[in-house]
Amino acid sequence: MNTDKSVILFERAKKVIPGGVNSPVRAFQAVGGQPLFIKKAEGAYLYDEDGNRYIDCINSWGPMILGHAYAPVLEAIQRAAADSPSFGAPTRLEVEMAELIVSMVPSVEMVRMVNSGTEATMSAIRLARGYTGRHKIIKFEGCYHGHGDSFLIAAGSGAATTGAPNSPGVTPGTAQDTLIAPYNDLQAVEALIAQYPEQIAAIIVEPVAGNMGCVLPKPGYLQGLRDLCDKHGIVLIFDEVMTGFRLAPGGAQERFGVFPDLTTLGKIIGGGMPVGAYGGKREIMEKVSPSGKVYQAGTLSGNPVAMAAGLAILRELRENSAIYARLESIGDKLYKGMKGELEKRGLHYTMNKIGSMLNVFFTEQTVYDFTTAKSCDLQLFAKYFQAMLRRGVYLAPSQFESWFCSAALSEEDIQHIIQAHADALDEII
Ligand code: PLP
Repeated sequence: MNTDKSVILFERAKKVIPGGVNSPVRAFQAVGGQPLFIKKAEGAYLYDEDGNRYIDCINSWGPMILGHAYAPVLEAIQRAAADSPSFGAPTRLEVEMAELIVSMVPSVEMVRMVNSGTEATMSAIRLARGYTGRHKIIKFEGCYHGHGDSFLIAAGSGAATTGAPNSPGVTPGTAQDTLIAPYNDLQAVEALIAQYPEQIAAIIVEPVAGNMGCVLPKPGYLQGLRDLCDKHGIVLIFDEVMTGFRLAPGGAQERFGVFPDLTTLGKIIGGGMPVGAYGGKREIMEKVSPSGKVYQAGTLSGNPVAMAAGLAILRELRENSAIYARLESIGDKLYKGMKGELEKRGLHYTMNKIGSMLNVFFTEQTVYDFTTAKSCDLQLFAKYFQAMLRRGVYLAPSQFESWFCSAALSEEDIQHIIQAHADALDEII
């Protein structure tokens, strides 16, 4: 595989961009080698600068749920851009987007658009603090909620991948207001609540933790958090930046039937454009400026091009329920096929899966929290990643990330991935 053009671009990039990338895990630090520079993508495939084609199993870290260069999204972007990309004033598209989100996400009565998942989570915890008058939040080890200071403590995703789950630059003052508990451990949460009575403003959780590599909530865990929040006047925030519109039209909350007070969204709602949103109970959302006093703003928030792209995707997801059936079937086929190949070889590595999110963990332990996720053999994962890449399958370059399948995968693509997985296992083990 010739990747000369990527090599040259990476050399240029490293001179002018820290680490040569605009987001850390793109650097392939955890898997060795260097990043591929992508020139274009279509449907299920990415094409690098040298023209190599890869089946995409990460889809821009989640947003491209219907595949790349999806025609209705492209048309919507072109139409909106032709009217000028930004006005800094209210638009019809924002109203339509808010109405659509409210109609699809069960617990959301009002919503505010922002520009990234990070902004959404930062704003949501400020709002929870403003609403409750309390300062502390509980987050879970290995969950990632963007790069806001409050969240870079025991963080998953790229923070874990690069070995900086506690980032330098976060002040002790900020860090002390973030309390950490292991994922899937209700007793630990209860203990923190008892230790800090009436001081906890919010519990923020990934209802399925994609940022540890796809870790599912144990039965009763999310409801347990809901009950604790109700009992102690704590705002429950589901960070559905990954799971929103992916696990069901109404996200993980619809799938599990547990409803938070606030929800953060991103990724899919922008159709590939930079977007985030936070929403929830009217009583809480009305505290946001200008109807309330909790300040939050954005020059490009609700940007018309981003709204148009997101609307095109969300409308499709709402109107065509066959898409979710297809995503489930893709996830099932990959899971069964890949697990079968592990079993044929007598390998007991763990696979987790829900809907179109899945992962292969190179550990024999059941993976239900950050400690068990970290028991993986990361060197073996790196070899697996490279072996898959050589066979034209593009995975997230980290063990601590979920696969995100798109509905654009054909039966042939699915078989190709399973065969690549089988061959990769034979090569590396
Ligand atoms: N929350 C979750 C669950 C995420 O997975 C991410 C990003 O991957 C974020 C928040 C941050 O979103 P963004 O990268 O758009 O700032």
